[in-house]
Amino acid sequence: MVMRNLSYDNRFTSELPQDPITDNHARQVNDALWSFAQPTPVKNPQILAYSPDVATMLGLTTDDMQDLELVQTLGGNAVLEGMTTYATRYGGHQFGNWAGQLGDGRAIYLGELMHEGKRFELQLKGAGETPYSRSADGRAVLRSSLREFLCSEAMHYLGVPTTRALSLVSTGDLVRRDMFYNGNPEMEPGAIVCRVAPSFTRPGHFELMASKGESELLKRFIGFTIDRDFSEWLPTTGLTLDQDNPSPELIEAWFEEICERTAILMAHWMRVGFVHGVMNTDNLSIIGLTIDFGPYGWIDNFDPSWTPNTTDAQGKRYCYGRQPDIGRWNMERLADALATILPNTKGLADAIAHFDNTYMKHLTQSLAGKFGLAGWQDSDGEMVNRIFELMSRAEVDMTLFFTKLAALDIADPSIAVISEAFYTEEGLKQFGDDVQQWLTTYAKRVQQSTLSAEARLDTMRTHNPRYVLRNYMAQEAIDLLTEKGDNSRLLTLLELLKNPYTKQEGMEQFEQKRPDWAREKAGCSMLSCSS
Ligand code: AMP
Ligand code: MG
Repeated sequence: MVMRNLSYDNRFTSELPQDPITDNHARQVNDALWSFAQPTPVKNPQILAYSPDVATMLGLTTDDMQDLELVQTLGGNAVLEGMTTYATRYGGHQFGNWAGQLGDGRAIYLGELMHEGKRFELQLKGAGETPYSRSADGRAVLRSSLREFLCSEAMHYLGVPTTRALSLVSTGDLVRRDMFYNGNPEMEPGAIVCRVAPSFTRPGHFELMASKGESELLKRFIGFTIDRDFSEWLPTTGLTLDQDNPSPELIEAWFEEICERTAILMAHWMRVGFVHGVMNTDNLSIIGLTIDFGPYGWIDNFDPSWTPNTTDAQGKRYCYGRQPDIGRWNMERLADALATILPNTKGLADAIAHFDNTYMKHLTQSLAGKFGLAGWQDSDGEMVNRIFELMSRAEVDMTLFFTKLAALDIADPSIAVISEAFYTEEGLKQFGDDVQQWLTTYAKRVQQSTLSAEARLDTMRTHNPRYVLRNYMAQEAIDLLTEKGDNSRLLTLLELLKNPYTKQEGMEQFEQKRPDWAREKAGCSMLSCSS
């Protein structure tokens, strides 16, 4: 037993009020932050993959990861000494509407692990029912679990703030899901992901307390959150924290910090072409991480109106291009909750303005980086919008476009260099001249830039990923695993995506645009929320 040394401090459960009921029936909970919940055992937990880097981050060795007791724990069949198991209470706005209490319906915390002075909340997603499961089963299927596991790691290596994943465990049990919501449920293999983050708190936690008029508890939870999750930020404010009753000034400053982190996150998602797909206020992190990987997707052909979520196909509320607006809208809902305990809303409005400024600053910085410009000039907006419009109309692959653009000969810019990024011959034929003209304009702009050729390439390389987890790539790994029990593609992708900005020998197939067969295939183009 190597893991004896792990230490926990479990502040959430020791400092915040508990739901007095300890059994598992679905219920509304008042005046409490969390309910006791225990994983429901599964038949035969097997580790399909784990992230060696996350293991190391937590102080777990390779031997630990093979340890039977740990495998049983990651599958929900055991609890290690020092861990505490619970589900938290939160609400949220779903698709623009207040949904009331939601909570951790299928995520069970294992407590707060401390390693080298850092705190890590651990959660098992898919470990069985909690008091917040409502009418659902608390389980998760392998396909969605693999997607969460791989994508959270991929995001991290892209340099995008995100929750992490320690392990992907198959349960040996089957889960019933109606994947297409068409009345044809099927039994699918179940799985559990162990997720890791300094905090899994969401705006929805605060919104629910505000909606129930639990003002004292709301203040206390804000105080707790600032003290525990914003401990590095707090000293930068010069303000002092009264944990039971944080001052309005501090709450406003804290909200501004959340707005800033969320705006930066939105700029990252736009840079790498990630579409979250369900940006409800319960699926957003209070500390600015990408959280809750469900029907997410990656942009193949550049299309701002594309949403990967079948439930969102009509409204397109969560499409790629609207993400910054929705991030802001979500901040406004958090502001509404905070307004219930503040004397006025001036500071909140200022913080929302700070969201806009921060987003614009980071967006333009990242666009300058993507296009290899030394800095951003106002006139660049027009140039960038023009190519985005052409890319969208001509169906040009976003990731390939930018990696190819770096190879453009600035002295003699030719469309031949990027023609591979076009999805169709017609697109190339119809828009080729316009794109060629744009390349000429772009080359002139680059020539005026103060960046050396080398610096330009370096900037472009670090802002434009070469490998992203295209939807069809995850689906191929899922198919191989579920049909043949073969996890080799999953492991290949995990390794590949560790270095998304660097060309890797023998990995050419993952640099290609989405193959034709994947265009309309379920899981490769759009995904349902059924998970
Ligand atoms: P999501 O859209 O996945 O973020 O889920 C919204 C809410 O439904 C959250 O409170 C989840 O915990 C809950 N939920 C989703 N799927 C399940 C499930 N299979 N069992 C129990 N609760 C679930
Ligand atoms: Mg969620």
